[in-house]
Amino acid sequence: MDRIVKATAANAQIRIFAADTRDTVEEARNRHDTTPVATAALGRLLCAGAMMSTMQKGEDDLLTLKITGDGPLGAITVTADSNANVKGYVANPKVDLPLNAVGKLDVSKAVGNGRLDVIRDMGLKEPYVGQTPLISGEIAEDITYYFANSEQVPSSVGLGVLVDRDLSVKRAGGFIVQLLPFASEEVIEKLEENLKQISAVTTFFEQGGTPESLIETLAAGMEPNITETVPVRFYCNCSRERVEKALISIGKEELNSMIEEGKPVTLNCGFCNTDYTFTPEELKELSLRQ
Ligand code: ZN
Repeated sequence: MDRIVKATAANAQIRIFAADTRDTVEEARNRHDTTPVATAALGRLLCAGAMMSTMQKGEDDLLTLKITGDGPLGAITVTADSNANVKGYVANPKVDLPLNAVGKLDVSKAVGNGRLDVIRDMGLKEPYVGQTPLISGEIAEDITYYFANSEQVPSSVGLGVLVDRDLSVKRAGGFIVQLLPFASEEVIEKLEENLKQISAVTTFFEQGGTPESLIETLAAGMEPNITETVPVRFYCNCSRERVEKALISIGKEELNSMIEEGKPVTLNCGFCNTDYTFTPEELKELSLRQ
């Protein structure tokens, strides 16, 4: 089951988020029909978004991560609510690139140079927006840089997506470890030592690891204490009703010109790739509700 496990360790001098997001990333792949490198890039950002969404305080808070790079993938957008319902898409899901020098999916090249925006909508007039440049385009390093430079929280982030031979998602997950302001030198050293035990999250999961054992490994010798387990899923809150409301709100003139065309109109939800089609008769009914 996809989940995020939250823990503290070393008497709450560090906090840890560990996630298994295999099914969530596979759902994203199915919905957007992504190529492996697009699956990896979108999957890594979905995992980061899901973990970061559980740092939100308010029930109605929304977190959006947006990577705007100059690589062939174009923009990648992920939104998550405070219950780790996460959705996302990549501008060009069909990008195919050769593997990189170490035989891995070349996410860095597919993303390119650009920036990461972290948008926290807490129901206030203006959302909080943090923006940092992309450091490598590998996404985990870019999120690490964001935490250090925009939130001033020293963190270590690992994200991984392993694509199977049949192009489905075999493993996906990640972790975020954060130092709290009063963390001692001793704890920092121990943590650095422990981090060396994890070469890649997907390898760790391939060898039978779980989010719980990932926490055990990251916090070995520091008495980890699991505080919460949160289920994660790919979920989009779009609906035919919402699309109807949007059509009603576009204005009489525009809706009338759609009706006069005499053809069905299809609107697509970018986040989950669902089509909503309206016949001219249905559009006429909507115009009566304007
Ligand atoms: Zn949708």
